[in-house]
Amino acid sequence: MANMSPKLQAGLYLVATPIGTASDITIRALDILEKADVLAAEDTRQARKLMDIHGIKLNGRPLLAYHDHNGAGVRPRLLDAVREGKSVGYVSDAGTPLIADPGYALARDMIAAGLPVTAAPGPSAVLTALSVAGLPTDRFLFAGFSPTKSGARLAFLSEFKVVPATLVFYENPKRLAACFAAMVKVFGPDRPAAMCRELTKKFEEVRRGSLVELADYYADVPAPKGEAVIVLGPPAKSTVSDEDIDAALRGALNDGSVKDAAAEVAEMFNLSRKPLYKRAVELSRE
Ligand code: SAM
Repeated sequence: MANMSPKLQAGLYLVATPIGTASDITIRALDILEKADVLAAEDTRQARKLMDIHGIKLNGRPLLAYHDHNGAGVRPRLLDAVREGKSVGYVSDAGTPLIADPGYALARDMIAAGLPVTAAPGPSAVLTALSVAGLPTDRFLFAGFSPTKSGARLAFLSEFKVVPATLVFYENPKRLAACFAAMVKVFGPDRPAAMCRELTKKFEEVRRGSLVELADYYADVPAPKGEAVIVLGPPAKSTVSDEDIDAALRGALNDGSVKDAAAEVAEMFNLSRKPLYKRAVELSRE
């Protein structure tokens, strides 16, 4: 699909919108909102507000609500529009559609139907938090929101214990104290982390420290307001314990052979394969 043509080609356009500061929107995103034959939005009022700020008029074009609760019903209409040669622009409430936001099923079904899908990339809290956290960015894993119940949260966090990457979590600031306390239990006290709140907004705040420092801090202060992202640094290589290795091997054995499991975990922790192969054989017999 070409950029900035007088008329948009048929297809689904997934348009990223600001996560705070209204001017954080690309020229191409505005062009798509201006020219798409059909617009769809997670929240139509929010979309209209954004369009008003940027002086974009609907001019009789349809603006459909498309969200988690009505997606199955509205999707066929949006697919039909593209089949008829129309351009459909989709925006979620804030940031990039599909990233902890609706849009995945829409894109999936368009692709399955052989229809064109493109993105107008822009803000997302994941990359914005990574930019300011001060933690390694060469390899990261976006984990989305943690469950709110304590048992489920511990189980969820444990899945990421040995992942050799920076982890990014979306979190409600009301739950920061509980979340950091759970993280200390799962990841230990020393992993470096950052709490990134109200990014790109007036009261942007980035608080960096070890997990235990952040847990102690949020245990003592009233819960802050707004929106937050927690970024957690990767495990230090030297701290990989036998338990961590066993957990990784067990996980890998679920999906592959002893040989593959040893190779996968060797690469994961930068260890030699031979002892891992021996241990994987033992575990596979348990
Ligand atoms: N699609 C969005 C994106 O690309 O980032 C995310 C939508 S998700 C429903 C909303 C969550 O994203 C918030 O609860 C928060 O964790 C994070 N978030 C969004 N805007 C933020 C901001 N300005 N500062 C910090 N976190 C933000």
